[in-house]
Amino acid sequence: MARYIGPVCRLCRREDMKLFLKGDRCYTDKCGYERRAYPPGQHGQARRRKASDYGEQMREKQKVKRMYGVLERQFRGYYYKANRMKGVTGENLLVLLERRMDNIIYRLGFAGDHAEARQLVRHGHFTVNGKRVNIPSYLVRSGDVVAVKEASKKVARIVDSVGAVDRRGVPSWLELDKEKFTGRVKSFPSREDFTLPIREQLIVELYSK
Ligand code: SF4
Repeated sequence: MARYIGPVCRLCRREDMKLFLKGDRCYTDKCGYERRAYPPGQHGQARRRKASDYGEQMREKQKVKRMYGVLERQFRGYYYKANRMKGVTGENLLVLLERRMDNIIYRLGFAGDHAEARQLVRHGHFTVNGKRVNIPSYLVRSGDVVAVKEASKKVARIVDSVGAVDRRGVPSWLELDKEKFTGRVKSFPSREDFTLPIREQLIVELYSK
């Protein structure tokens, strides 16, 4: 599956907010957005024009895609799936994205950012309910136990990330056992669990045209 491999701080500057795509660096004064809080490119420092309705919807969609490291086709697939589910489509979409295996690994603190989480999952360092899972888009279920494989508990990147997890904290819908390198999905997140500003309704409006 394709993935974005360009410079990520540009993405935060484009979306005009911190997306936390670069691990520990995002929490330091080296953060690209903290240093240059204007859009990238030659005309980045020109005054931002007011976006059209379509422009706002597009930006919101791009922002959420970038937050979770998902490209267009897969993201659109999540929208269609969310639309078929019971409940509010926008919230369903966010919950589906949160349930991704690479996101769970990031949220539990086994990786510093989504890109690292994705790579660690691809390399087969984790299990779900005792079975190896190496698919970043795998959707966890409520009650699932996610664990670092025994042989991977010494991998420096995982150990370092778990050591630094307190800085950003683990969401209330997940439970982390730092000593055992395991985590449990207590429930799916509710809308209040999303702390970053997301206007998912705009994404629904964009795709339902
Ligand atoms: Fe975004 Fe992190 Fe880069 Fe800051 S350091 S601009 S939060 S990716």
